[in-house]
Amino acid sequence: MSKRDYYDVLGVDKNASDQDIKSAYRKLARKFHPDVNKDADAETKFKEVREAYEVLSDSNKRAQYDRFGHQANQQGGFGGQGGFEGFGFDINDIFSEFFGGGARRRGQQQNAPRKGQDIHKRMRVDFAEAVHGGKKTIRTTVYEECTNCHGSGAHSKDDIKTCSECQGSGTVTVEQQSLFGRTRTQTTCPHCGGSGKTVAKKCDTCGGDGAVGKEKKVNVNIPPGVDNDNQLRMPGFGHKGINGGPPGDLYIVFEVTPSDTFERHGDDLVMEMPITVAQAALGDELDVPTPYGKGKLKLPAGTQSHKTFRIRGKGMPNLRSKRKGDLHVLIKVVTPTNLTKQQADLFEALKKTDLTQDETIWQKVKSKFKS
Ligand SMILES: [Zn+2]
Ligand SMILES: [Zn+2]
Repeated sequence: MSKRDYYDVLGVDKNASDQDIKSAYRKLARKFHPDVNKDADAETKFKEVREAYEVLSDSNKRAQYDRFGHQANQQGGFGGQGGFEGFGFDINDIFSEFFGGGARRRGQQQNAPRKGQDIHKRMRVDFAEAVHGGKKTIRTTVYEECTNCHGSGAHSKDDIKTCSECQGSGTVTVEQQSLFGRTRTQTTCPHCGGSGKTVAKKCDTCGGDGAVGKEKKVNVNIPPGVDNDNQLRMPGFGHKGINGGPPGDLYIVFEVTPSDTFERHGDDLVMEMPITVAQAALGDELDVPTPYGKGKLKLPAGTQSHKTFRIRGKGMPNLRSKRKGDLHVLIKVVTPTNLTKQQADLFEALKKTDLTQDETIWQKVKSKFKS
């Protein structure tokens, strides 16, 4: 069976924001959770939705999925965690993943301070920004407890009712016929999600979510030397905490647009430098582009194609040590085409001279004709 595209599973498009993905998941998870939905394929669908969310809600996994599709997972590409097995979570876990998501864990102290959720954001930077660092502003939606309902999601205190299904206990007993006879299991009340309470009329401010999102501008300092998938943690820039708990953190995951001149190998850079036959034979002083402006390279007479020269300290800065790597200049001798009459004459004159002396490569070929 071919696996469905994760974006299709959640019904969002490829450019969906973290928030879009979260709310699509929340809707589908409620719909298919086996505690609620008794259809035969509900569990399969729930697992599918859960798996799609696990990948798309994690900026690293999402980036890999965008690049490699389902293969990223099969090859253990998602940080090698391997698969998304396991079904050992209840519906409360779904809600507790979201700040103030209406339902509170049973037994959890209502007034205990809790840390806010983390936010993951991707940021694309161009090559020059990766070299020199810089500042960029991003917009992010930060959730904080609704000041109108204080997180309950109810229009007024009177609209918070004891759940009629579980009489406020948050759990219900389900009888099931199994191989071992009838079994009775306690499970989370599907009606109230385990909170023991239902809301008769929803809060106007937050629509019952208990939380409101505010768009914030955040200034991000791009560290010099940043590379693909590097993660920057900005403590306290995540969603707001509950009951005086500290806010979560913001994680910026970088994507660097590659340069068309420089190829990156860790802290070192490699660039290809074309030279003429005349420069190769006679030597020259070359102007070489580096990420830090023009650099000089003394080309010795008799330089072969594919020879590499190293210009020290003109590579990428190391993220931690700040020391710069090297720039490797790969020489490519370009044979001229479309010669002018004058150039052709000069090459004709050259051809009559012996250009093969002192070069072992010629001696090797010549020796083949001797016997
Ligand atoms: Zn509210
Ligand atoms: Zn209930």
